[in-house]
Amino acid sequence: MTNAVYLDWNATAPMRPEVASAMSVALARCGNPSSVHRWGRAQRHATEHARAAVAALVGARAEDVVFTSGGTEANHLALLGSSHRSVLVSAIEHDSVREAVADAISIPVHSSGLVDLSALERLLAATKPPALVSLMLANNETGVIQPVASASAVARRYGALLHCDAVQAAGKIPVALDVLGVDLLTLSAHKIGGPQGAGALVLGRDLALTPLLRGGGQERGRRAGTENVPGIIGFGAAAELARDDHDSEKIARLRDRAAAQLIDIAPAARVFGAEAPRLPNTLCITMPGVAAATQVVALDLAGVMVSAGAACSSGKVRPSHVLAAMGADPEEAQSAIRISLGWSTDVAAIERLVDAWGALYRRTRAEAA
Ligand code: PLP
Repeated sequence: MTNAVYLDWNATAPMRPEVASAMSVALARCGNPSSVHRWGRAQRHATEHARAAVAALVGARAEDVVFTSGGTEANHLALLGSSHRSVLVSAIEHDSVREAVADAISIPVHSSGLVDLSALERLLAATKPPALVSLMLANNETGVIQPVASASAVARRYGALLHCDAVQAAGKIPVALDVLGVDLLTLSAHKIGGPQGAGALVLGRDLALTPLLRGGGQERGRRAGTENVPGIIGFGAAAELARDDHDSEKIARLRDRAAAQLIDIAPAARVFGAEAPRLPNTLCITMPGVAAATQVVALDLAGVMVSAGAACSSGKVRPSHVLAAMGADPEEAQSAIRISLGWSTDVAAIERLVDAWGALYRRTRAEAA
């Protein structure tokens, strides 16, 4: 559908045109960045230029950026490569954090979606050091922004390291390593207008990392394998653009307008995470009595693309561990969808969403009557 409305930016953001141009130039070039000849050196130069851009996005040193195949790999490298005896992860982390370490300890969250810092303190006090704490900066389903700097202060008191998955936050709110006080930070290119299949683990200080992939000295011995040069170049270009992105107020206004109009249609609709600070672009809202999967399909038929609030993979919708951790009623959680906006979202897109959502709601109410 040519005039379809895309409101699933947290799943993947459309590639910035500047990124596509930079990548198409890169795709036409040959050379391995490890080769010493001129073509190899040119690829090395381009890779290091991108590394500097990614580092600048979060206030890091270029040499502390380890390129990976995406956020999932970076999360695994952080949790498995930093060799900690105890790993504590918040209950609302992305599955790539939750499932990286089998016996990780779960840190509860409040019903607002914010991590319970007192519980973190208690868990750390009872945990065998050295410990690693993993707390995301912003949640992918609700957009709730976590008190990472405060969690980092707690972690420091117990000599623990803090890893922060900033995949959803980068490009939407400022992300600065020193302000957050984190030791390891995860980024993913395709959430900021770059390509899928490129990401980074950024180190906040000198840390010994055990590589997950061995057999080559790439990435300063921290991640073997020939670099994905076109992907890295695209990531660098997207990072440069994300630094001077000032659309967040406009995006938040559109998001809030959508929420207000949907609640006007269905006053019992609930917005998850509304009491906490949230990303400007994310709205997790229920349609009372209508399953998320039904909404996603009906909205798609009307040309509006959103996600189920519940985790959706391989076409199957599973109950959301995020909403469950917030203590949501399971039935209510089943009716939550995630609407996520971006720099090109306009009023017309919001109107299409509201019309389609309203039509579905009225239809299901009429059928139930
Ligand atoms: N972390 C968060 C919070 C995410 O939302 C995602 C993707 O949805 C990831 C990690 C995984 O990133 P990638 O798709 O680059 O592997």
